[in-house]
Amino acid sequence: MATVRSATRARETFLPFAPPMVGEEEIQEVAETLRSPWISTGPKTQRFELEFGRYLGAPGALALNSCTAALHTALVTLKIGPGDEVITTPITFAASVNVIEHVGARPVLVDVEPDTLNLDPVKVEAAITPRARAILPVHFAGHPVDLDPILEIAHQHGLAVVEDAAHAFPARYRGRPIGSGSNPTAFSFYATKNLTTGEGGMLTGEPEFLNRARIVSMHGMSRDAWRRYDKGGSWRYEVLLPGFKYNMSDIQASLGLCQLRRIDDFQRRRREVVAQYQQAFSGHDALEVPIERPDVEHAWHLYVLRLRPDVLRIDRDRVIEELRVRNIGTSVHFIPVHLHPYVRDKYGYRPNAFPVAYSNYLRMLSLPLYPKLTDRDVADVIRAVLDVVEAHRR
Ligand SMILES: *Cc1c(COP(=O)(O)O)cnc(C)c1O
Repeated sequence: MATVRSATRARETFLPFAPPMVGEEEIQEVAETLRSPWISTGPKTQRFELEFGRYLGAPGALALNSCTAALHTALVTLKIGPGDEVITTPITFAASVNVIEHVGARPVLVDVEPDTLNLDPVKVEAAITPRARAILPVHFAGHPVDLDPILEIAHQHGLAVVEDAAHAFPARYRGRPIGSGSNPTAFSFYATKNLTTGEGGMLTGEPEFLNRARIVSMHGMSRDAWRRYDKGGSWRYEVLLPGFKYNMSDIQASLGLCQLRRIDDFQRRRREVVAQYQQAFSGHDALEVPIERPDVEHAWHLYVLRLRPDVLRIDRDRVIEELRVRNIGTSVHFIPVHLHPYVRDKYGYRPNAFPVAYSNYLRMLSLPLYPKLTDRDVADVIRAVLDVVEAHRR
């Protein structure tokens, strides 16, 4: 009955979990590209690579059609394959692990730190075998992983570090922007991410590495395809390896160029929303709020709230349902990778193989967090969350 009574006070329209922030500027820029003589990988993609790389202070940037493509391209370019192991986290989207499977290597999952839910460097070191070739950390929710110990372990053991920065644009670790280092770092411009091109991704790293990655990502062709059709370009090319078709189009890059000009405003609004959530939920005995360590700048891609099961009579799934009834969209990031049938059955993982990841998965939910949220929307979310936890306290 509590549900019905409270639902009458709920907002009248459903608040979606993560709609994109696409405005007239983006529409104009895309239209301009569509009216131009070139709509695939071309001048706008090149400009987006330059401007994105400059924004981060990255040594170089390669625009691709997804973060998954960027991660896969990085592993192929590093020649990681059968017999190799790549150490990564269970608290991520399936793509981070799928790409390791795509190259025929073995994903070695290790547990996360209880505060950030990011890879635990101590557990990474303990998992290194002679077959280890790379570490693939994920900056979960936009909070940078503890990068220096991981880079140090990698250096000592001769391993590559490929960062999954799908959530971490823009974020900083000890003053350095994520993606400004020399190791390959993959960003996502999927529809829900902080900067979107509908679908898209970027791989940052050293120019010499990216030159090889560009060939891997473009059919294995020895020169940029778009130059083939340029005046002064040549029709001649060579295929050096069986590459992939991972290039970004100028239509996507138009969106990216606009979004890049607006990203600082987006981030400012994200931080305002986070501040309101933190103020409302900090110190509540049924809730654990996300943290931001003093040596990082969080990208606040996700606001992941954790419930305290000892204080509540209902579980996470029921809380999500109660919020839905109150017209608040939420999600869960992530179902840990080792619970998915493919990985679970192939490697024989039990749910509690990673106790920190598993126990936190059971009590986490992500609240709406995007620049479009009005103060009224944020107040609605806060009221709904507090209403649900108060109604179902033990
Ligand atoms: C979104 C996401 C990806 C995949 O990004 P795409 O651009 O959709 O390929 C990879 N890793 C994480 C952690 C993500 O959230």
